[in-house]
Amino acid sequence: MDLPLFRHNRPNRVVTFDEYREEGGFEGLKKAFSGMSPNDVQQAVLDSGLRGRGGAGFATGRKWSFVPRDLPGPRWLICNCDEMEPGTYKDRVLLEHNPYSLIEGMTLACYALGVRHAFIFIRKGYEKAAANLARGMEEAKKAGLLGEHILGSEHSIELDLHLSAGRYICGEETALINALEGKRPNPRSKPPFPAIKGLWQGPTVVNNVETLANVPAIVANGAAWFKGLALNPEGAGSKLFCVSGSVKNRACVELPIGTTLGDIIDGACGGMRDGKKFKACIPGGASTQFLKPEHWNLPMDYDTVAKAGSRLGSGGVIVFDEGHCLVEATLNLINFFARESCGWCTPCREGLPYVKEILTRIENGRGEEDDITILREHVKYLNYTFCALAPGAMAPLDGLLRDFEDEVRDHIVKKKCPLK
Ligand code: NAD
Repeated sequence: MDLPLFRHNRPNRVVTFDEYREEGGFEGLKKAFSGMSPNDVQQAVLDSGLRGRGGAGFATGRKWSFVPRDLPGPRWLICNCDEMEPGTYKDRVLLEHNPYSLIEGMTLACYALGVRHAFIFIRKGYEKAAANLARGMEEAKKAGLLGEHILGSEHSIELDLHLSAGRYICGEETALINALEGKRPNPRSKPPFPAIKGLWQGPTVVNNVETLANVPAIVANGAAWFKGLALNPEGAGSKLFCVSGSVKNRACVELPIGTTLGDIIDGACGGMRDGKKFKACIPGGASTQFLKPEHWNLPMDYDTVAKAGSRLGSGGVIVFDEGHCLVEATLNLINFFARESCGWCTPCREGLPYVKEILTRIENGRGEEDDITILREHVKYLNYTFCALAPGAMAPLDGLLRDFEDEVRDHIVKKKCPLK
């Protein structure tokens, strides 16, 4: 099936501007500029059922619809390419193969939203992706597809690349906005959401790379086509799944939404590594709960995974086998989150290192029965923060205590990690 995101990819190199155009690239932009109003473009995205691919899964067209159109002053679009969720590398793979879908998608989003100037906030270290984007933007400008008077129209749109400072918190949308304004990247309280008051206090849409890269194909082929790509009726479109851990082929693959977990592991990734048995996985980056063997046939779609007690998140699937200790795996993730806390909210700044200390104790055979209760309390109380960092960090811990409490207790009773 012709899925929208990876269809232009070449093995081991970036697609060229000419190749992208020969394969239908920039047809969405041409279609929009030759007969669709900005509202038509927004409606197509709304009708397509596209949901935010960064992790939260918020309906993209709905987010766009919140932007007030009648206020004086500029509106802004920011592409969040500060990909740093553990286990998540899909935006990098996408941009290393093809920067043009994002450039075209951002131009279409600017057109729909009435934005004159947009930013790509890109992770430090994504040099190849940044170089592809910089070159792609120049090529698009020269061809009249970006910049002044796009395709001879009255619309002018500028894109700018901005290098992130290289911390996880910079990818949180309000911290990102502060960083772009040259301030310390502390998250802001929401509401007001950026769509109402964001960059320099103006209405601002922040969308993920993969989200925006889907827009050209939606405009070119229509909302119904996009919806029809999903394998389950509730879903829409395709998803990039970047798989790591105990699989034979660790890869970033594009599959229809609704593909089952088993088909991702057995089909796209060649099965489990070294004949190992599947024990669990984190389906959507580190801020999600574990899925278990009983979820092997679960369609990977936002609502379906949520009903199963986890989240599709970013699509960063981390696979664990029977030989992996999930206390250690959770500790590893908490270690990351504790290090990356910006320190702005007390529960996050103080709570995450404490959770790390307790899990370290348990993993090293020095845990006590009360520790389980204390960890459960932290899962509850670390939700009271400005941003999603601490609640996200609590998701795998919540999953560990919900689904693998026996494994945690085993550490405490045996005074050692039972798998070592
Ligand atoms: P969120 O649910 O608060 O918001 C999602 C989006 O919808 C935001 O853009 C927000 O502004 C918008 N929104 C929600 N309600 C709104 C309303 N009433 N009016 C206007 N806009 C509204 O989630 P979040 O904090 O933006 O993101 C958290 C997610 O990000 C987590 O799932 C986490 O896994 C993921 N994440 C991903 C990466 C990555 O590298 N891809 C890194 C860190 C976190």
